[in-house]
Amino acid sequence: MTRITVDHVSKYYDLKDGTKQHVRAVDDLTLQIKSGESVAILGPSGSGKTTLLRLIAGLETPDSGAVYYDDLPLSQIGEQNRNIGMVFQDYALIPHWDAQHTIGFFLRLRRREQEVPAHVHRVSKITGVGLDYLLGRFPNQLSGGEKQRVAIARAFARDLNILLFDEPFANLDAKFRATARVELRRLLDEFSVTSVFVTHDQLEAASLSDRIILIRQGHIEQLGPYEHLHDDPENLFVANFVGVPRFNFLRGKVVDSNWYHPSLGTYLLPRAVPEQTDVTLAIRPDAISLAEEGVVARVEAVTPYFPERYLLVDVVYGDESWQLQVPLETKINVNDAVACRFDQKSILFFNTQTGARIA
Ligand code: ADP
Ligand code: MG
Repeated sequence: MTRITVDHVSKYYDLKDGTKQHVRAVDDLTLQIKSGESVAILGPSGSGKTTLLRLIAGLETPDSGAVYYDDLPLSQIGEQNRNIGMVFQDYALIPHWDAQHTIGFFLRLRRREQEVPAHVHRVSKITGVGLDYLLGRFPNQLSGGEKQRVAIARAFARDLNILLFDEPFANLDAKFRATARVELRRLLDEFSVTSVFVTHDQLEAASLSDRIILIRQGHIEQLGPYEHLHDDPENLFVANFVGVPRFNFLRGKVVDSNWYHPSLGTYLLPRAVPEQTDVTLAIRPDAISLAEEGVVARVEAVTPYFPERYLLVDVVYGDESWQLQVPLETKINVNDAVACRFDQKSILFFNTQTGARIA
């Protein structure tokens, strides 16, 4: 197991349009990953996730700053001593090697030849590649899901300190993805390696990692366990990105020390904010309920959400619209007029201009 430190790392790419401008793919980013920890790098497309992972792997060299494994700069660790395993989106299997050979290759580098069959068998078994018919197959005889298992089994077959994954389940169908996550989490717990996943899928990030690093434009917006990002977002970007279903956002102003909207009324702010500041109110659909009295809005859409057994109801009210969550059995139809009540204690506020949380 290895502790990873990313210390003020930047990586720029030249724009290929003839100008001297560059993209800051990773921008002065600092991060510590504890030995044995599992973290997910989460962010939208183009936010720098792959670049950050490649910097951590030593496949890219920082333009400034440095990556350390324990206390050693990565640049001073020879490639053969890095003990990193990587699983890429496309699995990168070698076409003329069968699964047994693929998994065994790295074992052979480190173990005595006679131990190989037993270890291949063991690693294969926990990764679910254990069936003999898979071990004898070549990549072109494997389905996407099977290839992915072989790639993961191969990564685990090495004596590794660090495992890195770039969107490992991107090519799998939803049904297999759920099983694969559970299997992989089990493996990580058993093998006690430090692992880093890149994903744009927040649920995958939540189930595979101890901590999430949410990045945008090469810098960290927030890091912590999924629940923290979900319940306690530090800014509007995080609030907008994390959580299914998403927050509703309603724009108002500070009037007489309260949040004020001409037709939604007033809500208490958690602290004093200068008058007339633009403030966005954020509330999750499950914190809005149907009531006897309240803001009477018109139902625009009703969508059953089966995994959790509720209805998502989209309503409009003047220029505003929001979504609320009601029990699956609720009798509610499009064009109904419904009174909505916002649960004050579940409301978060953000400065609309800066995005900063007001707490
Ligand atoms: P992500 O994995 O989050 O989608 P990337 O790390 O691949 O993001 O890319 C971050 C940014 O850097 C993007 O704007 C991307 O276009 C740019 N970029 C990545 N790799 C290169 C490259 N080899 N040359 C030029 N620009 C690149
Ligand atoms: Mg990427």
